[in-house]
Amino acid sequence: MKKINKLAVMTSGGDSPGMNAAIRSVVRTCAYYKIECIGIYRGYQGMIEGDFTSLTARSVNNIINKGGTILKSARSDEFRTSEGRKKAHKNLIKQNIDGLVVIGGDGSFTGGVIFNKEYNFPVIGIPGTIDNDIFGTSHTLGYDTALNTAVEAIDKIRDTASSHNRLFFVEVMGRDAGFIALNAGVGAGAEEILIPEENLGLDRLLESLIKSRKSGKSSSIVVVAEGDKSGRNVFELAKYVEDNMPEYDVRVSVLGHMQRGGSPSCFDRVLASRLGVKAVEVLIDNKTNLMVGLKDNKVITTDLEEAITGGHSINNELLRVSDIMST
Ligand code: ATP
Repeated sequence: MKKINKLAVMTSGGDSPGMNAAIRSVVRTCAYYKIECIGIYRGYQGMIEGDFTSLTARSVNNIINKGGTILKSARSDEFRTSEGRKKAHKNLIKQNIDGLVVIGGDGSFTGGVIFNKEYNFPVIGIPGTIDNDIFGTSHTLGYDTALNTAVEAIDKIRDTASSHNRLFFVEVMGRDAGFIALNAGVGAGAEEILIPEENLGLDRLLESLIKSRKSGKSSSIVVVAEGDKSGRNVFELAKYVEDNMPEYDVRVSVLGHMQRGGSPSCFDRVLASRLGVKAVEVLIDNKTNLMVGLKDNKVITTDLEEAITGGHSINNELLRVSDIMST
């Protein structure tokens, strides 16, 4: 067994709440096992440029509650080239780094898998994205916080919607995955939820809104994921409904990047702490190309390639609950 003396950690791709808590966990687990820990700034771009910093247990004081990432994140086109990856590898070797923890989404994992194949360099992934679209974990870091942020915002919108008998279309993040829309929609009591995985159809949407109006509801909330399948963006959807239901005063609210920010929820902090410990311990065991994740409240590992390609499926039971709740 190769002894692990020095590990590196970085955050890559879109940031998500809980990334700092995961960095803290990786750094403190390294300190616990007397392993040196290097932080790489700006993801793969920092790896190419050798933008490294030494991290001790004290470097990560007071960050568990902070959103964003102290190591910064970036997208790197240069890492998509073999010359870029060669430079990155040279920098890791120069620093005697034995393994890498990548906190990010599927794109970051793809980069890690390619890097591992080319250089046989040990890589472990921690799923950090608010979209929850990674196979092999029930929750990704930041998803729970983003859900709570979205629900809180929709609650506030409901206050004003009900005061003015308005119909609100609220767009939440999720280009390819409707997890935030579906769960925040159910949590905030939305009348309809439009997600990328399911084409509700515009007729059904109108039908449902007419039914809800007839049943005595004077205001409504429709939650729309960015990647909804109707082929219309949230403003076009609102216009379509306004044209067909002139009795409604329709408004649109796009929640946008506020869903990525903010202090991580307790759930995300605990998850980050658990996944960070496991990521380091897996590297100590000389394992590579794995993602650490959560299943049935147990920390498990999944092949990194499978985590990227395994796909995600929406919870049909929750769809049914949402239908029944809009009665
Ligand atoms: P999010 O889910 O928030 O978008 P992500 O990790 O999927 O996060 P990406 O921008 O897709 O974010 O990927 C992050 C970085 O990973 C890219 O900027 C690039 O440097 C690297 N990467 C992605 N795909 C590849 C690839 N095919 N080859 C090499 N590197 C890649």
